[in-house]
Amino acid sequence: MQKSLSYRNSYHDNLHRYAGLKRFFERWSADPDFKQDLINNTTETLEKHAIPVTPDDIKYMIDERITELPQPVQTMWEISKSKQDLIQSFYLSENLPRDRGMLAWRNRQIARQRFDLGPFFTDTNIHSSMTVELTQGCSVGCWFCALSPDSFKENYNYDDNREEWLGLLDTMHSFLGDAMKSTFLYWATEPFDNPDYEKFCLDVYESCGVFPPTTTAVAHKDTERIRRFIRLSAEHGCWLNRFSLTSLGIMSKVHKAFSAEELAEVECLALNMNTSFAYGNAGNFRKKALERPEILSQQDNKLRKAPWHRSNPDYAGSEEYANGSICCVTGFLINAVSRKVQLISPTTASDEWPLGYIIFAEATYENAAGLEMILQSWSTEYFKEKLQDNDILRFHPWLGVSVSPDRIEIKGRFNQKEIIEESANPSLYHLIKQITEAPARLADIRQYAAAHLSIPPQVSDSLINELYKKGFFYGC
Ligand code: SF4
Repeated sequence: MQKSLSYRNSYHDNLHRYAGLKRFFERWSADPDFKQDLINNTTETLEKHAIPVTPDDIKYMIDERITELPQPVQTMWEISKSKQDLIQSFYLSENLPRDRGMLAWRNRQIARQRFDLGPFFTDTNIHSSMTVELTQGCSVGCWFCALSPDSFKENYNYDDNREEWLGLLDTMHSFLGDAMKSTFLYWATEPFDNPDYEKFCLDVYESCGVFPPTTTAVAHKDTERIRRFIRLSAEHGCWLNRFSLTSLGIMSKVHKAFSAEELAEVECLALNMNTSFAYGNAGNFRKKALERPEILSQQDNKLRKAPWHRSNPDYAGSEEYANGSICCVTGFLINAVSRKVQLISPTTASDEWPLGYIIFAEATYENAAGLEMILQSWSTEYFKEKLQDNDILRFHPWLGVSVSPDRIEIKGRFNQKEIIEESANPSLYHLIKQITEAPARLADIRQYAAAHLSIPPQVSDSLINELYKKGFFYGC
């Protein structure tokens, strides 16, 4: 197989060029005392935190008389823009599911997310088609974890399961096609809990030509293993690794153990309580926030300062917390240990979906042939381009559908709107009105529309399928 590095772009070159500055901003976003320490003694503070920039490089950050943004900072903004370009091309236009039905399902879920989680979350999400957990449970136990794993129980051993594992990769690759390249190998798990993690990554690379991205919360523990892993993934053209730094102490340890250049391509996410990063309101965090609402308000204040939130009147005018899920899979979540496979997609966490993703279906496979049968049955039920007669039409409970005599407004959580004027589209207006009054099967709505609204069946089917494509219906 041709192994391609074409998904690396100028983003990576700039990360190396500005590795020191990148590290500076990691500390800046995490540590509320850092600015004052810099003002008190710039050189000593930079040395103490192992940040290889000169006082001159960052003086504009602490000297309020300097108002012009220097070139390196502008470049840092451009780095984040080029990362977004990479996500757009790699995940949203080049490597899509082969199966037309699954592609239609994925597009529908992405359309729903725009109304459910808002445009920022939807546009920056990779919408990966598959992730595989290689352990049962997680050894770390972060208090804010949106995925609420059980404590660590068991690993998926590489040597014992190699044949089964390669069968899983083959089955999923045949079904997903190029979307297999969006695979990664952790979820409610810490990847380095599994001593064979690197071998599994190499097999994904052999299977589809892409070395999977990794996020770890234990970069400070076995630093030699992590160092070797960074090299291994770079040699195989991996586009992203991330360290979750759950306290300032861990950030200090990591910044001392690895040079800025070594971590140039590693995103160091500051996840300490006072960081400017806002936690996803799902799983463990949501449970805590339901008991202590003030911790959600603190996070909300951070989000409302972010440029994407502040500058968008739809977000600014909404009371909703704009980070209700950290899920980045619209596809398959597989646990290799228990052989459980789920079909999932992000949603704002709720009592129904407390982990911030909808579970459309769930099954357990015995072997590769069993997995293939599950995929076939889900293809019939979920991966469809059009609704079927027995599908129940009901709007998501969180969509605001308001009907007035001359128009219908369908409103998302963040004020995204679809407006249907009765005068411009009377058939659609009356069909939606009927669905809001009495959710029913497609076949029944079609019959009602023909008998009472004089809408021919092919017209009602086509109009209702347009709503279906927008992801407005619950359970589809
Ligand atoms: S955030 Fe990651 S490392 Fe922390 S508990 Fe959740 S799965 Fe484990």
